[in-house]
Amino acid sequence: MNAPTPKPWIAAISPYVPGRSTADDGRKVHKLSSNENPLGTSPAARAAFVAAAASLDRYPDAAAHDLRAAIADKFGLEPARVIHGTGSDELLHLAAGAYAGVGDEVLYVRYGFSVYPIAARRVGAEPVEADDRDYATDVDALLAAVTDRTRVVFVANPNNPTGTYTSRAELARLHGALPADCLLVVDQAYTEYLEPEDDDGALDLARTAANVLVTRTFSKIHGLAAERIGWAYGPAAAMEAMHKIRAPFNVSTAGQAAAVAALGDDDFVRASHDHNLEWRTWFEGEIAALGNAGLRAVPSKANFVLVLFEGALTAETAYKGLMERGYIVRWLPNQGLAHGLRITIGTEAEVRAIAEALREMAGAAA
Ligand code: PMP
Repeated sequence: MNAPTPKPWIAAISPYVPGRSTADDGRKVHKLSSNENPLGTSPAARAAFVAAAASLDRYPDAAAHDLRAAIADKFGLEPARVIHGTGSDELLHLAAGAYAGVGDEVLYVRYGFSVYPIAARRVGAEPVEADDRDYATDVDALLAAVTDRTRVVFVANPNNPTGTYTSRAELARLHGALPADCLLVVDQAYTEYLEPEDDDGALDLARTAANVLVTRTFSKIHGLAAERIGWAYGPAAAMEAMHKIRAPFNVSTAGQAAAVAALGDDDFVRASHDHNLEWRTWFEGEIAALGNAGLRAVPSKANFVLVLFEGALTAETAYKGLMERGYIVRWLPNQGLAHGLRITIGTEAEVRAIAEALREMAGAAA
């Protein structure tokens, strides 16, 4: 029987797997699987969101004028070159959609963000994975994988799920050696967790280069994941193309208002950053102390840590043990990381409980 057939490149997509929020038995658990903010949301952003309930009958501002103006103001950017998205996810898809298609290649590093291959295949392009260097982005491997069909290169910095970081010099070297007709997308979803001296310079590059796009999100440090708000900065030509293919009303009125308020709440951002630094550092120390049991933390600059299990205690056993104790983390066998767990830095109590559980399980497995 004849039936409509999805395009073969769509059929080839492995679906995105979101972080779980319930245990195998349906229990609600501590969710440390999606890199959300354990401090919640800025009170100012929440108040702006609530106030927007007064205008539910109207479409949102399709141009997100106030939000784009606030972003431009905050970072010293040209408002016309800021674009808003339904999360930065949409912007990654728009970048691929505007610049890649059938016969083209989209390049990223192995253990990169799992949306990149989906964004590539969705538009009929071929995803190409470059080798990592001990889980981190390897600029030489990326450059070696560039062909005359490479149209888009995605680099997350810090990277998810590894937490690894690419320096300003390395990023500049990558950009400098890429063909001019290849769009470099620097995905800065976790950039606010970096220390000021670790600024990777991507926004500076995007100010002047004709082939650099930077994406940002309100989902992580701003604690607005539920509202789906991201933004990007890039060349005027990229903006023109991406606006044509984005959904017209892609960020809700409440989302736009909450994001503007969140941008103004420096105290909340600072508190979130400081909490993360303190407890990520503490947690990495705890994992280092379990080195003799084969546990190792990939050095992270994000709000999560990728813990590798190379001894008697396996990642799968630890994943299940944590779930039994009421904590869901991210086990990533589908991303070639069957030996790793990506653990979001939660509240102090959550981080302490995870460390305690891992210590217990590593001891029991020895
Ligand atoms: N990029 C990276 C590296 C991410 O980890 C995420 C969220 N998991 C995103 C982009 C997308 O986030 P959002 O759509 O919520 O902005």
